Amino acid sequence: MRNCLPSVPLSALDVSDSSPDVFLWKNSHDLPPGNFSAAKTWKSLYPPLPLVSWHNSVWYKEHIPKHAFILWLAVQNRLVTRDRLRSWGLNVSEVCLLCGAAAETRDHLFFNCLYSEAVWSAFFNHGTLTPPSNFNEVVSWVASPFTSVKIKTICRLIFQAVVYFIWAERNARLHTPSTKASHILVKEIQLILRAKLSGLDRTTHASSHASLLSTVHQPSFIYTWFEFFQI
Ligand SMILES: [Zn+2]
Repeated sequence: MRNCLPSVPLSALDVSDSSPDVFLWKNSHDLPPGNFSAAKTWKSLYPPLPLVSWHNSVWYKEHIPKHAFILWLAVQNRLVTRDRLRSWGLNVSEVCLLCGAAAETRDHLFFNCLYSEAVWSAFFNHGTLTPPSNFNEVVSWVASPFTSVKIKTICRLIFQAVVYFIWAERNARLHTPSTKASHILVKEIQLILRAKLSGLDRTTHASSHASLLSTVHQPSFIYTWFEFFQI
C-alpha cells in the first residue's frame, strides 16, 4: 500500500491547510492523479490495438450489424468453409454447396462460384462501376475514394449484404433441404438494402432540416440506388 502512494516529501506537505482531504484517482501510469474517469481507466487497462487496413471496409457508420459481423469473419478467413474443416482433419466433402463444381474456399464461395457471380452481376452489370472480382481486392476497393459518397456507401452495403446472404444460403443448403435460386437471393438483398437506404434518406432529411441546410440538389440514396444499381 505504501508503494502505491505518491512519493511526496513530508517537508512539502502543508499540514496547516484546513481544507478537507479529497481522493485522487490515478487513471493511468502516464497521467497525474485527478478525478476518476472510467474511459481513461479502461484504455489504461486495455490499450487500443492499431487499426487494421480493412477496418473502414467493415466498420463504417451506415453498416448493418449482422452483415458487418459476417464480413468481419470473412475478411479474416474465419468462416468455417469446407477447406478449413478439411485442413483441421475433418472428413467432409470439399465440394461447393452452391455450384457443386469446385472446392469450397472463401474466395470461391463469394466470388469465383457461378452462383455468386450471378448475384454480383445483378448489381454491377450496368457498366458504370467495375469492382474487382477478388475478395481482398474488393475489401480495398470499397474503402477507396469514389466520385460520390453515396455510391461508395451503397457499394459497401452491397458487399456486406452479398457476403451475408451467400453465407446464409450456403448454410441453409448444408442444414436444410431448401435451396434458393440466385435471382431470389438478389430480390431479398434488394429489399433489405432499399429499406436501409430509405432509412438513411429519412435521417439525412431530418438532420438537414435541423441544421437548416438544403439537400434539394443532392440525389437521395434511393435515387442513387435506382440510377446505378437497380436500373
Ligand atoms: Zn461454387
